[in-house]
Formats: sequence, C-alpha cells, structure tokens
Amino acid sequence: CGIVGYIGDKKAAPILLAGLKKLEYRGYDSAGIAVQEKKAVKIVKKEGKLDKLKSRTEEEVFYGRTGIGHTRWATHGRPSDINSHPHTDSFSEIVIVHNGIIENFRELKEELSAAGHQFKSETDTEVVAHLISTYYDDDLRTAVNKTVKRLEGSFALAVMSKQEKDKIIAVRKDSPLIIGLGENENFLASDIPAYLEHTDNFYILEDGEIADIRKNKVNIYKFNGDLIANKNKTKISWD
Ligand code: GLU
Repeated sequence: CGIVGYIGDKKAAPILLAGLKKLEYRGYDSAGIAVQEKKAVKIVKKEGKLDKLKSRTEEEVFYGRTGIGHTRWATHGRPSDINSHPHTDSFSEIVIVHNGIIENFRELKEELSAAGHQFKSETDTEVVAHLISTYYDDDLRTAVNKTVKRLEGSFALAVMSKQEKDKIIAVRKDSPLIIGLGENENFLASDIPAYLEHTDNFYILEDGEIADIRKNKVNIYKFNGDLIANKNKTKISWD
C-alpha cells in the first residue's frame, strides 16, 4: 500500500517511520521497516498501527543510513507479523517491500519450492525476494531486472541487498513510485506527500523503469537496460 525509502547521511529509521506516517491516510493493516546495519539488514515489522511498529523499533538500536519501509494492505495472506513487509529470501540477503499483486506467484512459488526454497509467509511478495536471490550474481539491478521480466501483475518494488549497502533499487509497473532528490540524500515513496517536507524535487517513475538510487546520484533505466539520460525532474510548488 505505502512504500518509503531513504539513503543518505542521516539515520534512516526515524525518516522511514515519519514517511510512513504521512502515508497513513491511505489505510493499512500492518507496517515494517528494514535498515542496512554493519553486519546485517535489520527488519522490524508488526501487524497493526504504526504506533505499534514505532514502539517495537524503540526497543532496538538502529544506526543504518539506508533503509526501506512499508504499510501493507493485505491481498494475499492474512494480516500478521510474518506476512508484513519487508520480506527476504531464505538467507536474508535480499530485502524487499512491494505494492500491488503478483498474479503468477503460485507458479513461481511451485518452481522455487521444487528448487529447495522455503517460504516463511503466505504472501505473493515473498516469492519476488526469492526469485531475485536466484538471479543475484553481484549486481542487484541486473538481478531485479531479470526478475521483473518473469512477473505478471502490478508492482512497485523497493529492493536492498546485504552485499550492496550503498544502494536501493526501485522498479515500477502499474503502481506508483517517486524519488525525492536531496543534497547527499535521496528519498523513495509511493506518493509525494511522504517526503514533501524534505524536498520539492522529484523523479516520477514511469511503468517499465528501474532506478538505481545512491546517496548522491540516481540513475534510471528501461527494462531493456538502456539508461534514460534525459529523465525529467518534477518540481512541486507549494501553492
Ligand atoms: N500483495 C502484497 C501483499 O498482500 C502487497 C499488498 C500491498 O500493496 O500493500 O502482501
């Protein structure tokens, strides 16, 4: 339902939680965040209101400066802590949040199960994390790009890898995503209000675009791998 992301010099967790708060009006049944820490990606997710997630995050110490977050409106799998996003592959190397519906997730799940993958949740989303891990060599964007070619349905995805702490990969098909551009920091969201207080300068992703978001640069590609060199920025004015 709602997606947020942050990469920059500030601590990610409070910025992710604040962004999710701004998207609360859209409705949701659960919420979660994932932050890149030194050794692992730390995930906290909870069924219920954001306040519940917030008090859970306060029991932990987050230092990381890169992260993604989600408010979920369940479509496949009941609302529960386990079905909440972010989701990971079997080894927690790939971490994702997803808006939309993967229509062919049952076929993909069967294929992956036959290959030995074990699933923790009942969601369509978890299948995507596993699929990315099977395509992962050493470049996250390439793995995500190969994965989206196998997906049917609608998706906005934000993806992180434990191996590549300096980036967030975002991709859209029939579900909105925007990138807020800052000074040594960038923001990702499914909707502009999430980060309007941080920037008024945005890239609006089109269907079939995949973004490689670093703290001081954003590159946007087509699904065929071409870099979109002249991507327009959208300036939001306050009146
Ligand atoms: N289909 C996914 C799920 O049920 C994502 C739902 C959403 O857009 O929040 O977990």
